[in-house]
Amino acid sequence: MLDLIATTRSPGEIFAKRTCVINRLTATSPNISSARLTRISAADLQLLFDLYNEIFFDHRINEVYQGQLKFSLSRRMTKSAGKTIFPRRPDKIGPGDMTIEIRMGTDFFFKYDEIESNKTVCGITTTSALEAFLLVFEHELCHLIEFIHFKNSSCRGKRFKAIANHIFGHTTSYHELPTQRQIARVKYGLKIGDPVTFTYEGKSIKGILFNINKRATVMVRDKNGTFTDNRGNRYMKYYVPLESFE
Ligand SMILES: [Zn+2]
Repeated sequence: MLDLIATTRSPGEIFAKRTCVINRLTATSPNISSARLTRISAADLQLLFDLYNEIFFDHRINEVYQGQLKFSLSRRMTKSAGKTIFPRRPDKIGPGDMTIEIRMGTDFFFKYDEIESNKTVCGITTTSALEAFLLVFEHELCHLIEFIHFKNSSCRGKRFKAIANHIFGHTTSYHELPTQRQIARVKYGLKIGDPVTFTYEGKSIKGILFNINKRATVMVRDKNGTFTDNRGNRYMKYYVPLESFE
């Protein structure tokens, strides 16, 4: 089998190749024309994969992997920014019948510029949403490559870290992109447990900020509510976009 891993590149070489991917992507994609991300489609992920396969791997991924690749986007991912989904029992599947899916979360990148913070991804300081997106995509490509060669993959392992470092110069397996919780704190001055007010069906409603994911969860005192606290108070649960608080 051709070895996709036996490649060690200098940081300068990696940066030049990544810049080449960015230039080709922004020239070709109907959705991405600058380093800011406001729209993206699954077809853009296929295009991005093709560019990486060409520029970083001389088209060799397709020679080594005969299965299918699937690309998808999710607006619901709130912790990890990307995910690679493998078959559970690869030994039971013929090489041509295998499907591996790369799923990219979108909100981390659409909200990249919401607050000023250190936005390191895989140990590399990023300066734009698109650069951050590419680094997460590279991390998922490392999962794909490790899986193709070894039939399993974990970014906690030494082997994965060596692959990601040799091919893309990554030094960690996580991102420090702003989460909704950080955006709530820095941009809106809100933290869990705070009293909040918002408008619902024309009425001003007061409650307690209970959780923050894609939207904030607010508990509002209501004698008909279905949630009860340990003092017997009843609450109704509301999901409120962060920008809707008064
Ligand atoms: Zn990972």
